[in-house]
Amino acid sequence: MRKLTTDDIEGLREGTRLVVAGRHPDEAYGFVNTPVYHGSTVLSPTYADLKGRTGRYTYGRRGSPTMSALEEAVAAIEGGAGVVLCPSGLSAVATALLSCLKAGDHLLMTDSTYGPTRHFCDGFLKRFGVETTYYDPTIGAGIEALLKPNTRAVYTESPGSQSFEIQDIPAIAAVAHARDAVVLTDNTWATPLFYPAHERGADLSIQAATKYLGGHSDVMFGTVSANTRTLPALKATWGDLGTGVAPDDVFLVLRGLRTMRVRLEAHQQSALALARWLAEQPQVQRVLHPALESHPGHDIFRRDYRGSTGLFSIILQPAPEEAVAALLDGLALFGMGYSWGGFESLAIPFDCASYRTATRWNPGGPAIRLHIGLEDVEDLKADLAAGLARFSAARAGAA
Ligand SMILES: *Cc1c(COP(=O)(O)O)cnc(C)c1O
Repeated sequence: MRKLTTDDIEGLREGTRLVVAGRHPDEAYGFVNTPVYHGSTVLSPTYADLKGRTGRYTYGRRGSPTMSALEEAVAAIEGGAGVVLCPSGLSAVATALLSCLKAGDHLLMTDSTYGPTRHFCDGFLKRFGVETTYYDPTIGAGIEALLKPNTRAVYTESPGSQSFEIQDIPAIAAVAHARDAVVLTDNTWATPLFYPAHERGADLSIQAATKYLGGHSDVMFGTVSANTRTLPALKATWGDLGTGVAPDDVFLVLRGLRTMRVRLEAHQQSALALARWLAEQPQVQRVLHPALESHPGHDIFRRDYRGSTGLFSIILQPAPEEAVAALLDGLALFGMGYSWGGFESLAIPFDCASYRTATRWNPGGPAIRLHIGLEDVEDLKADLAAGLARFSAARAGAA
C-alpha cells in the first residue's frame, strides 16, 4: 500500500478524506489508528535539538500525534489553513471570538445564536470592552446598515439554534469583508460535509464536535478552522488561553469522525421523512426544517447547502402546558435532554421569546426541537404518533 500525500488527499472526495486524513500507520507499527498519547513532557535527545526545536512536538499542551491526527482530519474536510482543538463547543466559540476582538471593538451577532454564545457576549465580552449588537438572522446584505467604523467581526450561525432561520452568509461576508471585518460561523448543524463554510465566506468556522463529529453522546469537544488570514491570531489566542484537550477525548472524536458521512446520511433521510410526515399531522402548525419547500429560507438552503441533518423543530397547535407534557412524558424513544448529534433521538421544548432582542419570537403555539437519531424511522414515527394522540386527548380534556 502506497502512502498518501497531502496532494493525494486534497484530490479525493470529502467522504474519502474523512476516512484517510490524519492516519499514519507507517508511524504506528502499521496500526490503522493513531495511538492515544498521554503526556506532558516531551524529551529532546540533544542540547542542539532542544535549542533548535527540531522535534515536531515540544510540550503536551501544545500538541501530540493524537492531536495532530484530529487536526489534520478536520482540516481535510474544512478546507481552511489550520484547525485548533478545544475542550467543548462553547470553548471553540469563545476562542474564535477572542482571537479577532479587542477592547473598543464592535461585534455583530445573529439574534438566533446558541444561548451560551449570547451569554459570553453579554457578560464576558462586555466586561472586556467589546460591544455586541444583535441582528435579524435573515438580514443578508442589509447588514451593511449595522456596520460601524469599529465593527471587527460578524458572527453567523445557520440555521439558527432552535428556530432554524437560514442565513445568507455569502451576502453577509461580501459586505463584512469590504469593511475588513472577520466573518465567523457556527457550522455545527450542517458540519463541513453539508456546508463548506470557508467557501461560503467564513474566515473562522466553528464546530461543536460534541454533536456530529463525536456522534455518540459520549464526549464534549470543539474545533475552530481558520483561513490564512485568521489562523495566526487563532493559534496565538488558543495558546495563550492554555487550552488543553484530553487525549482520550481526541480519540473519541477521531473515531466518530470516520463514520460521520454515513451517520449524517441516515440522520438526513430519517429526519426528512419525519419532517414531511409531521407537516401533515393536524396537531402540528408548522415544521421548521430548511430542506422543506415551505421553509422561508429554502431557496438559500438549496443554493448553499449540500444536505440537511437530523435536527429540526415543530410548532404545535396552541395548547396548555399539560398537553405538551402529555406528549413528551410518554415518549419511549425520544429522550428529553440538551445537546444532540448522537445516535439517539431527542425531543425538547423551547421558547426563544425570553432572550431575543433584534427579532420577535411568537410562533403561536408550543415549540419542540427534535433530534432524529439512527433508530428505525417507523419506530420513531409510531412513538411520535402516540405522542400527538396524547397531546390531542389532553387538549380536548382541558377545553
Ligand atoms: C451544542 C452547541 C454548542 C456548544 O457545544 P458544547 O460542546 O456543548 O459546549 C455551540 N453551538 C451550537 C450550535 C451547539 O448546538
